[in-house]
Parts: sequence; structure tokens; C-alpha cells
Amino acid sequence: MKLTATDQKNTSSCSQTIVQALAWANRTIEAIDARILLQHALQVNHAFLLTHAEDKLTAIQIKQFSNLVNQRADGMPVAYLTGQREFYDLIFKVTPAVLVPRPETELLVELALETITENRPYSVLDLGTGSGAIAITIAKHRPQANVVAVDLSNDAVSIAQRNAHNLGTKNVCVIQSNWFEQLDADAKFDLIVANPPYVAENDPHLQQGDLRFEPPLALSTADNGLSCIRHIIANAATFMIDGGRLLLEHGHDQSADCRQLLEASGFQRIKAHRDLAGIDRVCDSYYFV
Ligand code: GLN
Repeated sequence: MKLTATDQKNTSSCSQTIVQALAWANRTIEAIDARILLQHALQVNHAFLLTHAEDKLTAIQIKQFSNLVNQRADGMPVAYLTGQREFYDLIFKVTPAVLVPRPETELLVELALETITENRPYSVLDLGTGSGAIAITIAKHRPQANVVAVDLSNDAVSIAQRNAHNLGTKNVCVIQSNWFEQLDADAKFDLIVANPPYVAENDPHLQQGDLRFEPPLALSTADNGLSCIRHIIANAATFMIDGGRLLLEHGHDQSADCRQLLEASGFQRIKAHRDLAGIDRVCDSYYFV
């Protein structure tokens, strides 16, 4: 629901305190989104909102906040409105050129970190890095690892590079590449991770809610959402050490397909891992030469 000009006027006259502004926003958007947007508009933290609940907002602040609330009510992801999203324990800059990092993708990072013991310079490849969330989180937690992150989109590469720089990460190299294309032909990785586009191109969810605002290149792909996963599985082994591990995020109904594709390409110890919602989300496997 979008607010009309009259609504906005009423808002300005009746939602003058922090607590009133939040209550008003809560009529159209979720309470947590309203809080984050108000924090963003006022450039304050949660504690400030709680301890200044009765503070009056200025007319400019009310206008800024109602603009943000209206955009959110239209479906624009909060992360694009604030320009950032927390992932794992870090804050990433995001724009509509990259997918908003998802909590379920933290599972992929946890599994990756469990593989990389602290005392060896593991080499890691992140395919389709987007904001760099996976690659940079791994690199921050494992400073001895060398992480290569690739993305087809130049805009995504710039954002990932900026995130790596802002977060003080020295062990990530972000390059523009269509999957494996720009890698050295003889490069070998201990671990390959990817959260590729896996939504089917005709999935009606793409026309709904937040997904409408995210880059289609990062979300969906041909072959009922399996095209990129298929390509990665078919080519990964060439770029892996003997005993290397491949961790792939996939769609809620793609676990069996992933297993089949991995088996057909000679991968072993294939295992499905569930996300916090109890859905098979990451396919885990090893390659032995
Ligand atoms: N998990 C995301 C979604 O369904 C899609 C991410 C992806 O395609 N890699 O919203």
C-alpha cells in the first residue's frame, strides 16, 4: 500500500516523535524494516531510537523517512535503501547491481570455514561473488587463505573490490570473469564455493516482492534454474587439487539434481546440508584425481 499525499501530510502532523513515526510506518511495512529505515534516515543506532522514543522528528526527517517507507512498501529491498547489509559478522555495501546477501548463504561460509584450517595457505575460489560477501567473509576469518572471487558483472566486481577494501581484506583478489574463463588454465584450488543464479527463469516469484528489484543475472538461469550449476559442476574438477572440496548453494528443490550432476562428473562424498529453515540448501562434495 502506498501513501497518498494527504496521508503523508497527516503523517507529518501526527507522527512527530520517533515512536509515532515507527507506529505509522508499521501500518505498511514490517516493524524491523521500519526501525532500520528510521535508523538510516536519522543516522543513529537502535539504542538511540529506544532511548529517544519521545524525541520529535524534523519535517525533513519525516519526509526522508516517509520516502523510504513508501519505497519499501513498493517492494524495494531494505538493503538497497540503506546501501548495506549485514552478513555473517560483517557489513557489506550493496547496490541493485548485486544480490542482497541472504542469511541461508551463511551456511556455505560456515562449511567453508570448517574446511580451512588456520595454519595453511588454502586457495579458495568464489564463483559469482556479487557483493563479495562469501569470499570476503572467508578471507577475513582465514587470513592465511588466498581467495579469488570472480563475477561476470563489472559493477559487481567494483562493489566486491570496494567491500574488500573497506573491510581491510588483503587476501581477496576480485576479477571479472565468466565463471572459470579468466582463470589461469593451470590454477588449482583447495576449495571452490558458489552461490550461483538458480531460480528458474519462469518462476513466478521473480515477479513478486523484493526479487523484482534484484539483478536477474544473479538470480535466474535457464534449464529450470540448473544451467549455471551444471556449468560449474562440469568444469570445477579441472581447477581443483586432489581431494579438493566443492560447496554449492542451490534452490529448495535442486538437491537431487545437484547430487546427480556431481556423481556424473566423478565427485565423491556428496552430502546435502540444510539451512536454518530445514531445507536442503548446500551440496557438498570432494574430487579425487
Ligand atoms: N536464494 C535466493 C532466492 O531464492 C536466490 C539466490 C540465487 O539465485 N543464488 O531468493
